[in-house]
Amino acid sequence: MSISYIYPEFEVIRNDNRCIACRVCERQCANEVHFFDPQRGVMMSDESKCVNCQRCVSLCPTRALKIVKSNCTLRENANWQMDTITEIYKQANSGGVLLSSMGNPKPFPVYWDKILINASQVTNPSIDPLREPMETRVFLGKKPQKVDRDQDGHLVCKLPPQIELSMPVMFSAMSYGSISYNAHASLARAAQKLGVLYNTGEGGLHEDFYCYGENTIVQVASGRFGVHEDYLKAGAAIEIKMGQGAKPGIGGHLPGAKIVGDVSRTRMIPEGSDAISPAPHHDIYSIEDLRQLVFSLKEATAYKKPVIVKVAAVHNIAAIASGIARSGADIIAIDGFRGGTGAAPTRIRDNVGIPIELALAAVDQRLRDEGIRNNVSLVVGGSIRSASDIVKAIALGADACYIATAALLALGCHLCRTCQTGKCNWGIATQRPELVKRLNPDIGSERLVNLMDAWRHEIKELMGGMGINSIEALRGNRLMLRGIGLTEKELEILGISHAGE
Ligand code: SF4
Ligand code: SF4
Repeated sequence: MSISYIYPEFEVIRNDNRCIACRVCERQCANEVHFFDPQRGVMMSDESKCVNCQRCVSLCPTRALKIVKSNCTLRENANWQMDTITEIYKQANSGGVLLSSMGNPKPFPVYWDKILINASQVTNPSIDPLREPMETRVFLGKKPQKVDRDQDGHLVCKLPPQIELSMPVMFSAMSYGSISYNAHASLARAAQKLGVLYNTGEGGLHEDFYCYGENTIVQVASGRFGVHEDYLKAGAAIEIKMGQGAKPGIGGHLPGAKIVGDVSRTRMIPEGSDAISPAPHHDIYSIEDLRQLVFSLKEATAYKKPVIVKVAAVHNIAAIASGIARSGADIIAIDGFRGGTGAAPTRIRDNVGIPIELALAAVDQRLRDEGIRNNVSLVVGGSIRSASDIVKAIALGADACYIATAALLALGCHLCRTCQTGKCNWGIATQRPELVKRLNPDIGSERLVNLMDAWRHEIKELMGGMGINSIEALRGNRLMLRGIGLTEKELEILGISHAGE
């Protein structure tokens, strides 16, 4: 047997004075880290299998466990870091492409953290959101370029189909298959309670969730899994997925091991067969082709549903968005390079795409310059982490934000970044029945509603502080933002001044 050069990343520290050998940790760990040694009568650990999901730590009744980052280190230097060396060992072992999950972890700039929000002081008084009305509702879809009145002077309100959201947030695409039935149930129920939308992702819509149609975006991806007439009609909007922030330029791959039971039926593919979405849509090679699909979907749903086109944030995103705005799409969703995923090739996830902040600012400006900003709404995602990220995104020009990782964290995800293994100990990114049932959809949806209620309050407070009482008045209001520690070029792209100016 050859020697493994991969050293455990984490250390399991068990306090033997506290451990009562109840074996809870053994039963809870799908990675089989913990086991009982009957000869010595003690619990042991195989640290090489630990992914630091913290399930055992949370459930140990005597608080006997602690997982820490191992300080056993290789001789790294500024060029050859531990991660790089370990990846080479892994590839030398396997000969395969490295796979990862969740978002890009590399230390690229997070522009949200380099942007500061304004507040009113003497003039233009601030608004107290506890005492005065604040409008957090938004409507997504094409808006008219001008206001028309009929002969009697009444407003003509014949709008193209719109999505109404109680706050400018939606749950981003996560397919049934990549996440569990109970995770989907939690998202759907929360979306309904909140008056927002969740997104099926590319896995089709389980029959149990048709009742949440008014709060559902049904996705049409390149694999067309689970796409049929009833599916298209079931949702409040249809999303064509052209790209995803975590893996721009490539398709998707859900391993056959996860295509079981309901997942296979919902996707309309045989059990055990790999669900491979091609990199391109094989019927789309131009904006004209995209336009054909947009209008085919509108035709199939009697022009009653807005169509979203989702793209990854890449180098020429402003020109791409300009084309999409002319394709007949109602909404453009842009996914930044820190966006999460259930599985992506590590090199793609960590090196392809651009930050959502720059992409958003460039797209909003381009559409304004071309006089077509009202043709589409803009939804942005790719690591929206808090209410302040949302406020900054709206002020940079977004109509609403997609969140996914934050929603999964609310459900109990501990960001162990091993979704691709299907062994999620928190019942989220798994199809194993004994793991799925660990996530209670009643509790999950309640936690999502709590999170969104908290963010709604924070959004109102931030807006009130600026003297702004509606999302509509904040949208594209870049005067409310200042950059800190940014170059002239970055400020120019973001369209904001530096702090102090
Ligand atoms: S859960 Fe805690 S007390 Fe129980 S066996 Fe594991 S470490 Fe010991
Ligand atoms: S969803 Fe589960 S497997 Fe994926 S990062 Fe979160 S805890 Fe880990």
